[in-house]
Amino acid sequence: MIVTDEQSIMLGNYVAYLDFLNQKLLKFFDSQKPYIFCKQGCARCCKNAQFPYSAIEFRYLLNGALQLDKCTQKKIEINIKNIFDKKKKYSGKKFLYDCPFLIDDCCSVYNYRGVICRTFGLMTNTENQKIKAPFCAFQGLNYSNVLNLRKKTISVRKFKKLQTDLEPLGFNISYKYLTGEDYEEAFNLKFGESKPLIEWFE
Ligand code: SF4
Ligand code: SF4
Repeated sequence: MIVTDEQSIMLGNYVAYLDFLNQKLLKFFDSQKPYIFCKQGCARCCKNAQFPYSAIEFRYLLNGALQLDKCTQKKIEINIKNIFDKKKKYSGKKFLYDCPFLIDDCCSVYNYRGVICRTFGLMTNTENQKIKAPFCAFQGLNYSNVLNLRKKTISVRKFKKLQTDLEPLGFNISYKYLTGEDYEEAFNLKFGESKPLIEWFE
């Protein structure tokens, strides 16, 4: 693949954007410690989903994959092939799959992972001024200790029981917002077309 000067400047700007995003998310996760149950080996958020990736995210992810050892690269190739085999037989509207970069329940391209992957686990502010809990709240993980899962609201009773000063909060971390015009302008970059990760391999 030939990389033009313009593409390499853009990737540099994307790395600066990721640094900024990481710092921001680090603070968010820190402020939500009582509600976060993420730990190494818990890879549920890397399974059974679509994983939207824009062109620039995908290019950066590939840079990471190219640096992996041959054995890991082979495993990823096999995963991709298996996903395509499954996809061929699928006739529904929304094809879900386990991320091909997930190897033994660990992300093989962690430092190169996309925007959506970095936000897994936090609560998101939605456009209609509601808060969306991560899916794993409904599996006894993040925020399950403070949410009323039936009503999908914060439970005052549970919050009181935790005796913490750290409020459970939603953040402006929707994929659409974090890869939108404001960030493109601020970091002088273009995210480009966005589609499910697996479709970039078609
Ligand atoms: S790139 Fe890594 S973090 Fe993102 S879904 Fe795949 S395995 Fe998970
Ligand atoms: S976000 Fe949820 S599913 Fe993902 S690692 Fe954290 S606890 Fe596990």
